[in-house]
Amino acid sequence: MTPQRIAVLGATGSIGGSALDVIAQHPGRYRASVLSAHRNVDALAELCARFRPDLAIISDPALEGALAHKLAALGVDCMVAAGPVALEQAVAGALCDTVLAAVVGAAGLNSTLAAARSGKRLLLANKESAVCAGALLHAALREGGGALLPVDSEHNALFQCLPGGRPDHLATAGVRRLILTASGGPFRGRTRGELGHVTPAQACAHPNWVMGRKISVDSATLMNKGLEVIEACVLFGAQRAQVDVLVHPQSLVHALVEYVDGAVLAELGHPDMRTALAQALAWPERTSSGVPFLDLAARGKLEFEHPDTATFRCLDLAYQALAAGGDAPAILNAANEIAVEAFLAGSLPFLAIADLIEAVLNALPAESVRTVESLIHRDLTARAKARAMLARMCC
Ligand code: NDP
Ligand code: MG
Repeated sequence: MTPQRIAVLGATGSIGGSALDVIAQHPGRYRASVLSAHRNVDALAELCARFRPDLAIISDPALEGALAHKLAALGVDCMVAAGPVALEQAVAGALCDTVLAAVVGAAGLNSTLAAARSGKRLLLANKESAVCAGALLHAALREGGGALLPVDSEHNALFQCLPGGRPDHLATAGVRRLILTASGGPFRGRTRGELGHVTPAQACAHPNWVMGRKISVDSATLMNKGLEVIEACVLFGAQRAQVDVLVHPQSLVHALVEYVDGAVLAELGHPDMRTALAQALAWPERTSSGVPFLDLAARGKLEFEHPDTATFRCLDLAYQALAAGGDAPAILNAANEIAVEAFLAGSLPFLAIADLIEAVLNALPAESVRTVESLIHRDLTARAKARAMLARMCC
């Protein structure tokens, strides 16, 4: 068997690391042929020394020389490219068969769309691109004719519980509801009064999952679940009233599909992204992931409760953006990225994240999405608006 050549975009991140762990377990089956990072030259060079890709990409163009120098010092002989466009060229080029889109944030949009247009298999972790550009992503997938495999654990679980992975119509498939589970994050059960002074370190200390800092904060605010509700509507053609969220502190059940006859199918597994990544890499086959098998008797109780949306307002803001339609989800996402960045930098209190996002959504009524260029323009407008409001909030 010729190994499947994988482009790992965001190789130095949490998802990138989990994917490379699975890839390393199956050397005859997979090969990491393209690896990318944004600024982390040392980590990228070390991954290149270990995985020997054909191409290494550093998306900050100022760091191309530093990467070439480091690779030479490590004795690694691979091509080097730099800049955001290099990602798009690589996914469209001849060096890979499959693309793992694991860049964080809307920065992953163009490379995700390029991968969809290329017709290669697209493993989608970068939920922000589905949230911002659902219709454009579907158009690109139609143009390319390739398959999209969801990596986000809830959507990967839905894919496994739905007939054929992604039925043309949920209603015809007898699906009543899609239910996403949320761990509740590190602040589950806290009141607003107790959240006034929480720190970035506390927000990033997720009880079950080990993830990058941005998604960890999203998980603490419940915006991650909000983005995932939008992602579920985009990936599975669901209406917003068909997607519900349940808090499940053990994070063993990742999502459930409720059918019209009352049957509920769920996918269970340890909170370890290697299971979803192994499923998406091997589909329609199965391979081992390195994740231990689940011992339910040892884990004991599985608990479920409704989310506290009065304390964690970001989930409702995401539903509101869905209801507004057009590019409102992209505005929500852009405002959230600025708010999270400010919170991580210590310049915005935790509870003000939702306030800032709400203010930006109110200031920029939804417009219809026509082209990638107009969407990117709106994303930049929303970021500028969020920064201006932030400057006023912090004074
Ligand atoms: P990390 O922050 O751990 O990693 C992000 C990766 O993207 C790094 O390789 C980083 O490079 C690269 N990157 C950052 N900014 C840019 C940019 N502007 N252009 C190009 N590359 C960039 O994130 P995660 O791995 O946690 O998350 C990645 C994506 O997967 C997100 O969309 C997240 O929502 C989604 N996801 C993550 C899960 C998880 O368990 N972590 C679960 C489900 C979905 P560098 O190291 O150089 O900064
Ligand atoms: Mg998820």
